[in-house]
Amino acid sequence: MALTPRLRFAPSPTGFLHIGGARTALFNWLYARRHGGVFVLRVEDTDIRRSSDDSVAGILDGLRWLGIDWDEGPGVGGPHGPYFQSARLANYRVAVNRLVASGHAYPCFCQPEDLKERREAAQAEGAGWLYDRACLDRGEKALARLKDAGVPHAIRFKVPEGRTQFKDCVRGLIDIDNTTIEDFVILRSDGHPTYHLSVVVDDVDMAITHVVRGDDHTSNTPKHILLYGALGAAPPQFAHVPLIFGPDKKRLSKRHGATSVTDYRQRGYQPDALINFLALLGWSPGGDREVFTRTSLVQAFTLEGIGGGNAVFDQGKLEWFNGQHIGLMSAEAVVDEAQPLLEQAGLWREAYATAGGPRAWLVKVIELLKSRVRFLAEFVEYAQPLLAGEVTYESEAVKQRLSSAGLGGHVAALREAYAALDQDQFEARSLEHSLRTVADARSIKAGVLIHATRVGMTGRTVSPGLFEMVELIGRDRTLSRLKALEQFLAEHRPTEPTP
Ligand code: GLU
Repeated sequence: MALTPRLRFAPSPTGFLHIGGARTALFNWLYARRHGGVFVLRVEDTDIRRSSDDSVAGILDGLRWLGIDWDEGPGVGGPHGPYFQSARLANYRVAVNRLVASGHAYPCFCQPEDLKERREAAQAEGAGWLYDRACLDRGEKALARLKDAGVPHAIRFKVPEGRTQFKDCVRGLIDIDNTTIEDFVILRSDGHPTYHLSVVVDDVDMAITHVVRGDDHTSNTPKHILLYGALGAAPPQFAHVPLIFGPDKKRLSKRHGATSVTDYRQRGYQPDALINFLALLGWSPGGDREVFTRTSLVQAFTLEGIGGGNAVFDQGKLEWFNGQHIGLMSAEAVVDEAQPLLEQAGLWREAYATAGGPRAWLVKVIELLKSRVRFLAEFVEYAQPLLAGEVTYESEAVKQRLSSAGLGGHVAALREAYAALDQDQFEARSLEHSLRTVADARSIKAGVLIHATRVGMTGRTVSPGLFEMVELIGRDRTLSRLKALEQFLAEHRPTEPTP
């Protein structure tokens, strides 16, 4: 039977959850969900100076908001815990002792300043610098003396001769001459492991089968392959994902605007839209389809679909996805999500909270607007004239739409025609028909009356379909808004008729 895939996301909690990190988490999660595997969250907090609890909380919160749930990790536990590297230091120590005992690693007493001096001397001669193995040649006696004298030391991995190869799912065969890899530090003199050691020890202990991570780690992987070999463990399958670039083809950074998941959350993006957008940054389903729900992504995801080219972050496209996903949401779900925004705008009524007439009416308003907005905040803006008691006319709307002569009379005629419709007839088709009849009878273009009525009903020059909106605004409020419009026109008679 095939092994259950085990994947992990291993963030270093030194800042917020970056868009790139979220995408890495997503790819691992999608693969685990696609194949009935296990998704592990492991916090790589061995760099005590740069790690913080706030950052851990922010990353966990961001993942939860995105709906990327983990089967093992902080908060849920699991058989391979603890899931914070700072609580696993003893494991790294055991692994280091094994590596030293088996001759795969050795203590290094070179002090940072000596190393710097030797490196600079080599570089001054135009040579590259790799650790010169000074401590490997010191001889046992000299080493024992240094140790007894309490000279701080690190542990270095002894890179063997030969070549190191691995097959990357995205980049294909990677083949490196070991002479290009220095004897890297695996344990620092303060007893903390380096990333190379802790990541491999944990991936072995946690039985990780697939490592999907950013392309910036590709150059680290040969070192990891060597460590797997020295520890007698089989390496996992690797997939290095192309990095995310801004439109200027430079690596995505603060310069390009928001780069944290929290920023996007605060700006009103839907988690499903961000998930959809991130999934397509570097992965392709192999067709033209772009809009994916979470479930359809899980069904479609493959590591082979991850492309080698750079992924370009396109803000406009993300906005488009947001609109698409709002369109996919049920009107009921939109009500729930928009409630805090409606409350803030003073447009929420208690009666909307429970089933009944007012809520059913609000759902209709949402259905009218849902496919037209890219953000829920925009929905609140468009819904405002429908939900508010009165409207105020924007000055631009007055200037553009309420200046033709004789409008007052036309609006009065429309009001009378609408007043003649009873409640049952007060629906979009009859409303449109009545308006066109009035316009014909008065020999004016229907557009003139439509534009003026739109201002009277919304205060604005643009709105969703006027007649659907009037239907939802309802008979009483429509008649009183038309009356108010007549009064306004009487008080602000245009001085010159427009041609
Ligand atoms: N803590 C590492 C990082 O955040 C993990 C890299 C890896 O997935 O191996 O870059």
